[in-house]
Amino acid sequence: MRLSSRINRVAESQTLAMGQKSNELKEQGIDVINFTVGQPDYFTPDNIKQAAKKAIDDNFSFYSPVPGFKDVVKAVQAKFKRENNLDFAENQILVSTGGKQCLANVFQVLFQEGDEVIIPAPYWVSYIELAHLCNATPVVIEGKAENNYKITAEQLEAAITPKTHGFVLNAPSNPSGSIYTKEELKAMADVLAKYPEVAVISDEMYEHLTYDGKHETIGQFENIKNQAIIVNGISKAYAMTGWRIGYMGAPVEIAKACKKLQSQTTSGTCSIAQKAAVEALNGDQTSIEEHKKVLIKRRDAMVEGLRSIPGVKLNTPPATFYTFPDVSAYIGKSYNGKKINDSFELADFLLNVAHVATVAGAAFGIDSCIRLSYVVDVDRINEGISRIKKALAELK
Ligand code: PLP
Repeated sequence: MRLSSRINRVAESQTLAMGQKSNELKEQGIDVINFTVGQPDYFTPDNIKQAAKKAIDDNFSFYSPVPGFKDVVKAVQAKFKRENNLDFAENQILVSTGGKQCLANVFQVLFQEGDEVIIPAPYWVSYIELAHLCNATPVVIEGKAENNYKITAEQLEAAITPKTHGFVLNAPSNPSGSIYTKEELKAMADVLAKYPEVAVISDEMYEHLTYDGKHETIGQFENIKNQAIIVNGISKAYAMTGWRIGYMGAPVEIAKACKKLQSQTTSGTCSIAQKAAVEALNGDQTSIEEHKKVLIKRRDAMVEGLRSIPGVKLNTPPATFYTFPDVSAYIGKSYNGKKINDSFELADFLLNVAHVATVAGAAFGIDSCIRLSYVVDVDRINEGISRIKKALAELK
């Protein structure tokens, strides 16, 4: 059967591909240390689970309104006010099946053939493919290592053309773990305000996993209020990746268009998960701080370990659960006479020789790096690092 040109334009996820390869080795009985994981390894807090159980017993088994139950929408509205000082009316909010669906909705309603969408690298892999799905052209601008892989307002302005219709900002960043200061965001907002046709899509999925400094949203600046779309969710903050709840706040006409699309595709998301989300957003928040303490210890072990490897360079990432070290010192070297040409081949080498799974930086648009996530116990982090160190030392 012929497949559509639309789907043929889309690439497979490299993150998932690497996880798959590592599972294949595990099935052969090999002890693989998996640093590709993109989700917390702890469980959804009990108060949230109770809310879901209650929703089942209370028979929340029917279709929900497309944008989400009123109480979820209100909880999202209150969250945006409380944590980000953003004022969204209820009709500007939409709850969807993960932040991923929010992004997919937004891309679909905004972009079409001929449009350019500016995406800073390193980027989360799906932005590029979501643009391809719309037949839009991703325009990648590279955050430099010396600026912690962040772009500058000058770079942004230089990339804007009459065809630019969108800009995607992901902070805290998957994969670099970087956050932007209020001043850096203001400089970008000042540029974007000059181009009111450019939609500003801010993916703030890792907001709650910020350890050093403070998360700031680009949505706070009045001069881009009519352009800013804020996407967030409960997956990472509350260890709820499988529950599939994300939400966004957007200018009314964009929110309305997304609701129309969602009404014809998935309808309102899972009723039980929505009730759990109300508890996640309105209920006790202490679990986040407790998990952050554990994650900081793991981050520090990972960073210290990576820095102890000759030639590996990285700054301490202030947020998320990823590290994105520069490993270019090893690209171009050889193992048993076979040259390692790029980060994909380096990640394959680490998997096959060290039995440590990582993701090639090229999958995120930066070939000099690899991504290692640290949602793994400190003992396993140390073991993984020592395996990587030993394997890299064998490269000539
Ligand atoms: N944005 C970023 C940067 C992510 O890393 C992820 C998940 O890995 C998402 C969005 C989507 O999250 P979800 O669909 O689980 O809400």
